[in-house]
Amino acid sequence: MIRISDKTLCCGCTACVSACPARCIVMRRDREGFDYPVANPDLCLDCGLCERICPVLNPVQNVEPVAAYAARCESRAMTASSGGIFPLLAREVIENDGVVCGAAMDSLCMVEHREAETIDELTAFSGAKYVQSELYSIYEDVKCRLEEGTKVLFSGTPCQIAGLKAFLKGELAGLYTVDIACHGVPGPGLWEKYKAALQKQYSSDLKSVDFRDRSNGWRHYNIRYEFADKTVKVARLKDPYLALFLQDMTLRPSCYDCRMRMGRSGSDITLGDLWSVAQTAPQMNDDKGVSGVLINTEKGRELWEKIAGELTLQQLAPADIAKDNGGFADKVTRMPDKREEFFKGVHAAKDLHKYMKSYVVRKPLLGVYRKLRSQLSSLKRRILK
Ligand SMILES: Cc1cc2nc3c(=O)[nH]c(=O)nc-3n(C[C@H](O)[C@H](O)[C@H](O)COP(=O)(O)OP(=O)(O)OC[C@H]3O[C@@H](n4cnc5c(N)ncnc54)[C@H](O)[C@@H]3O)c2cc1C
Ligand code: SF4
Ligand code: SF4
Ligand code: SF4
Repeated sequence: MIRISDKTLCCGCTACVSACPARCIVMRRDREGFDYPVANPDLCLDCGLCERICPVLNPVQNVEPVAAYAARCESRAMTASSGGIFPLLAREVIENDGVVCGAAMDSLCMVEHREAETIDELTAFSGAKYVQSELYSIYEDVKCRLEEGTKVLFSGTPCQIAGLKAFLKGELAGLYTVDIACHGVPGPGLWEKYKAALQKQYSSDLKSVDFRDRSNGWRHYNIRYEFADKTVKVARLKDPYLALFLQDMTLRPSCYDCRMRMGRSGSDITLGDLWSVAQTAPQMNDDKGVSGVLINTEKGRELWEKIAGELTLQQLAPADIAKDNGGFADKVTRMPDKREEFFKGVHAAKDLHKYMKSYVVRKPLLGVYRKLRSQLSSLKRRILK
């Protein structure tokens, strides 16, 4: 029976919950706002399935990518987070009578995984949501779809892909998986509290959030809050929720010891931001957004070739994609020294926004250095033309 004594050993994928034959495991939220499985010993059959399928306890072999690209869909990049590749892959599957599963925001601005059957329903998946999504029964829904012969494209964090594959136990015909480069994810509990604090601060209900508002460009994105009566845009490092996520302060414990990313999720394709674009694909360094794409399997290549003709592309070495990007790097995200102290204070904080702001580390010199480096490389390109 699954018992979580070390929280770094549970990514919250819910594979155990979906697989349990006694249906005796539920996800419960802890004090930091992350969900963990809890099994009811009175109903447990002691079959051991939950431990046998857990992707953290049974990691799969690392897979080397078969190809890597800098890529952008010119017509879709502006409404996506990076180069707008995911929406194109998703359209391809829907147009061939398949369904797509991805992360969407519900009417309360919480993040959940759901299924899309139409092109219109795909809009909800656009853009990264920096909150761990609730999976509910999505793994079981995918299984039903595959059993009825429908193609499924499932997208999510590497651990969600690994969890799905562990749950399906090899029943994979018709399944395509796309994971995102991932340095970690904050929990729904902290987001819910922060959202409540924002609604109080602005005396209005929050209706939607764009975590990657691109009105200042791809690199210097804002977070945009749509309230019932106003729109508020905040630069990413000035918004404490986003700044602390980017500083790795608010991530799930398993993210500091991640065993799923960089070829270990079993995904067919991995998508992320190509932050190294100035050095690796300088002709695309125009701040319109560029994806770093890893094709991990032949199945991934087959799907990729169906959309590649619609993209601006450059082939890269896989190592180029990981430059300047913790989400692609095969290294552990470092846990900030003050993380435990930060979470201890969250519940007592009278003004959560102010409290979170007090933990944001300002790195002005880092910003100036990055700007100078990017300006120098575009100057070099202009001289070489
Ligand atoms: C928590 C998180 C951490 C990330 N960390 C990095 C990083 O360190 N480095 C990097 O290069 N890229 C990272 N990304 C990925 C990046 O922000 C883009 O989402 C990715 O490049 C896809 O962009 P796109 O333009 O192709 O399509 P988009 O339209 O932006 O695609 C969105 C896709 O992401 C999925 N998605 C969105 N939010 C979530 C979520 N909360 N949980 C699971 N799936 C989600 C959707 O299902 C959809 O498939 C992260 C994304 C998330 C959600
Ligand atoms: S041991 Fe079997 S019955 Fe018990 S919680 Fe795990 S999967 Fe469920
Ligand atoms: S990692 Fe997934 S399968 Fe393993 S215990 Fe956590 S929720 Fe269950
Ligand atoms: S860093 Fe690893 S454990 Fe954390 S959300 Fe990403 S894939 Fe999952």
